Amino acid sequence: MELWQKMIRDSIHSVDQLVEKFGLDRKVAEKLDIFFQARINPYYLSLIRYPGDPIWLQSIPDEAELSDYESPEDPLKEDSMSPVPNITHRYPDRVLFLTTSQCGMYCRFCTRKRKVGNSSKISMKGLEAAFNYIEEHKEIRDVVLSGGDPLMLTDAMLEKILSRLRSITHVEIIRIGTRMPVVLPHRITPKLVKMLSKYHPIYVNTHFNHPWEITPESSKACELLADAGIPIGNQTVLMKGVNDDPEVIKELFRKLLKIRVRPYYLYQADLTKGANHFRTPIKVGLEIMDKLRGHISGLAVPYFVIDAPGGGGKIPLLPQYVLYQDDEKIVVRNYKYETFVYPDVKPEEYRTGVVHNFEEYYESTPTVSLPIILNSSEE
Ligand SMILES: *Cc1c(COP(=O)(O)O)cnc(C)c1O
Ligand code: SF4
Repeated sequence: MELWQKMIRDSIHSVDQLVEKFGLDRKVAEKLDIFFQARINPYYLSLIRYPGDPIWLQSIPDEAELSDYESPEDPLKEDSMSPVPNITHRYPDRVLFLTTSQCGMYCRFCTRKRKVGNSSKISMKGLEAAFNYIEEHKEIRDVVLSGGDPLMLTDAMLEKILSRLRSITHVEIIRIGTRMPVVLPHRITPKLVKMLSKYHPIYVNTHFNHPWEITPESSKACELLADAGIPIGNQTVLMKGVNDDPEVIKELFRKLLKIRVRPYYLYQADLTKGANHFRTPIKVGLEIMDKLRGHISGLAVPYFVIDAPGGGGKIPLLPQYVLYQDDEKIVVRNYKYETFVYPDVKPEEYRTGVVHNFEEYYESTPTVSLPIILNSSEE
């Protein structure tokens, strides 16, 4: 057994442990156990500094999870966009491929609770059908391995999947979506990255939510991946009490760049059964984005996205930078709230190539302005 597997074995998971260690009411702990089991491995546990801190909130079951049985279990309609088991095909050229229902830790905010936790939730018998589907659909050039956490598979099993995918010539890139560098960095071993680098181009997308998750261990895991030539992106979920604060997010994204991880998406938390207590108003996300762009390296600025309910996919949202626009000009504001009139190419100029004098625009001031959706923290 490898170290990371021992740490999974030694995770806190039982009702008794939840009652003893975290003071949960036994009845509540029993209900939570049925709803979505706990797995807090010794590494992630060691990151908790005090009860209710951002690490605790992500990992320790909470009574609030039981309060909203009305919300959808599958908010993104992943299951209805699944042509064969284990595959979600929502976008033209790429698919999500669920390879396991296990994770290194069970995140209390997970939107895939229906798929994750108990090993019967994703069947390995579906693998062959999934490979056949990808083989038959020549438009698929990007396969995103997901789950659960694909790095819960053994190196041997993972290699079987990768080599099979690589035998399909139209598959150009393979992405691995994994939270292991964050929740159990011991999984990223030299042996694993050596194997992965045989199947390039491989990308990893990981999932840091808070600066305290950037430790010597997680930094080392990312260093191993990056040194193997694997670009690492990060997806953060915006969550109340965890990271709904521009300073926390700024620190997180700056520190991620230092360990060669590029912020990719900042997600609005989806309406999901058992996880709605984490949700924040959309404007909280927009305000955070406003405090990133221009203030810190553009490399550290991800897309803020909402996942459209019912399977519409990810939609990016931006703070309001455009104050006015017509055929002749656009009026914009920068990160310091200074406004600028920018002369546009008029339609007839675009057609004829005859360029007019721009000077008047630099002298004019905007006469119309749209409300800026910002500074809404007045309360
Ligand atoms: C997020 C997602 C992808 C990948 O989307 P990118 O924007 O290319 O990162 C693919 N399929 C599904 C179903 C997804 O939810
Ligand atoms: S690692 Fe991902 S899939 Fe697994 S419990 Fe956490 S959020 Fe859900």
